[in-house]
Amino acid sequence: MSEKKLITILVPAYNEQDVLNMLYERLSKLINSITNYDFEILFINDGSKDDTLNIIKNLRNLDKRVCYLNLSRNYGKEIAMIAGLDYSKGDAVIIIDADLQDPPELIPEMIKYWEQGYDDIYAKRKSRKGETWLKKFTSKMFYKTLQSVTKIEIQKDTGDFRLLDRRCVEALKQLRESQRYTKGLFSWIGYNKKEILFERDKRAAGKTKWNYKKLIDLSIDGLTSFTTAPLRWSAIIGLLVSLAGFIYMLVIIMKTIIYGVDVPGYASTMVVTLFLGGIQLIFLGIIGEYLGRAFYETKNRPIYFVDTYNEEKETNIK
Ligand code: UDP
Ligand code: MG
Repeated sequence: MSEKKLITILVPAYNEQDVLNMLYERLSKLINSITNYDFEILFINDGSKDDTLNIIKNLRNLDKRVCYLNLSRNYGKEIAMIAGLDYSKGDAVIIIDADLQDPPELIPEMIKYWEQGYDDIYAKRKSRKGETWLKKFTSKMFYKTLQSVTKIEIQKDTGDFRLLDRRCVEALKQLRESQRYTKGLFSWIGYNKKEILFERDKRAAGKTKWNYKKLIDLSIDGLTSFTTAPLRWSAIIGLLVSLAGFIYMLVIIMKTIIYGVDVPGYASTMVVTLFLGGIQLIFLGIIGEYLGRAFYETKNRPIYFVDTYNEEKETNIK
């Protein structure tokens, strides 16, 4: 028994009462059929307000392979994932969404590549069923922008559904930033990556927790945590604008010398003032964005607190 390697299936769950039983059924069927590994299904209850925790507890009563980590409140999926990595015991960890958008049936293929020596086997979606064209379009533009400003390769159309070798997990555990953009972190740590393709299904039940505000926040986190390029753009644009301003100044001086004082200058003055004012505010905003991140990170708070791990009360984080 004990020589078998252990694989942790990590499931972040926030208000997922409608799908958990379905998920467990599909997962257990699958892992029962894989006999050469032991499994642990680790649910992270991310401060759910519905019956999620009770359902997980019931599952644990039925099946001791089910473990759970109950966070002290809702922290968001990014933090729920690192909490799960901290508490996972497996030689490999598979991160999967609770809503069955990531088909568990892909797991054997992931394991196959893991056995071949890959460290990070991630599932890339061929299509995005059940998503509006606007979401598809914005996500495409975001990936494009992000990729153009950073040297690290960002995987397109890839979620968090992946198998990570223990050494990737240990690497990720060392990245303790509080504003996490995990998708970028997966790329940042490197190691041998392998892509597999799949059709992403619609959420099986329940509602998505994403909205545009959250997506915009995540995009800004993604950009600002991986590159300082926006700061450089500001500097370059600022330089160009001041160059243009300087040339315009010379033009005005020459005009004044040649034609005398030209009183009606209201329009040009307003245009220049407004334009420069606008640019300055935008750049202040960009600087502020980075300053804000620095502010959060320098506080150095623990990134989450745990209420219970399985039946035990936790008083501190790992
Ligand atoms: N999730 C979480 N905490 C949150 C929001 C979401 O743990 O604050 C989990 C959720 O339960 C699901 C996964 O993250 O397992 C993906 O969420 P969702 O399906 O709402 O996102 P989408 O698939 O629409 O991007
Ligand atoms: Mg989903």
